[in-house]
Amino acid sequence: MDAADVSQDLDHVLFTEEQIHQRLDELATQIDADYAGREPLLVGVLNGAVMTMSDLARAMHSHMQMDWMAVSSYGAATKSSGVVRILKDLSCDIRDRDVLIVEDIIDTGLTLNYLLDHLRGRGPASVEIMAMFRKPDALQVDVPVRYIGFDIPNEFVVGYGLDYAQRYRNLRDVGTLAPHVYS
Ligand code: 5GP
Repeated sequence: MDAADVSQDLDHVLFTEEQIHQRLDELATQIDADYAGREPLLVGVLNGAVMTMSDLARAMHSHMQMDWMAVSSYGAATKSSGVVRILKDLSCDIRDRDVLIVEDIIDTGLTLNYLLDHLRGRGPASVEIMAMFRKPDALQVDVPVRYIGFDIPNEFVVGYGLDYAQRYRNLRDVGTLAPHVYS
């Protein structure tokens, strides 16, 4: 789905597919270099990180492995509470592995902060974070993010894996919704 397919639903496009892919190529080069001689385990956080993971993984030139987790926040559906429930756990043991968490977006940072602590408790060799988007003005905790795609304004965005009411994940670009969609 392109922005043109849902132009009436979008207020404005923040990043095109080309801009996202270009940034991912840069990050993949950096990740390849940082993990040279090692084989990182990329842990994608479902569902939002599906697009980021698949494009980042293919942009890399070195071997990597892939696993997935699904989490949900306890409490109100629209606000991150910081207490996270694991809906789907990893399929593999991460002891002594170099883990790179791949996330779609960091808003308050509470979800990733919890996940980071939790995974560190399983004895990995290292845990780092890659996030496609981050909203610096919304951060409530200081999450140590190693790789960041783009910092964005404190607005609700959709596309490239990010949904509103489970829609727009398949939008190639990333944009903000027009108010009539959610009001
Ligand atoms: P945090 O715990 O950092 O507040 O929340 C992170 C999660 O909230 C993300 O993984 C994502 O699922 C959701 N989220 C935060 N901001 C946005 C946004 O602008 N758009 C969408 N679609 N989801 C968001």
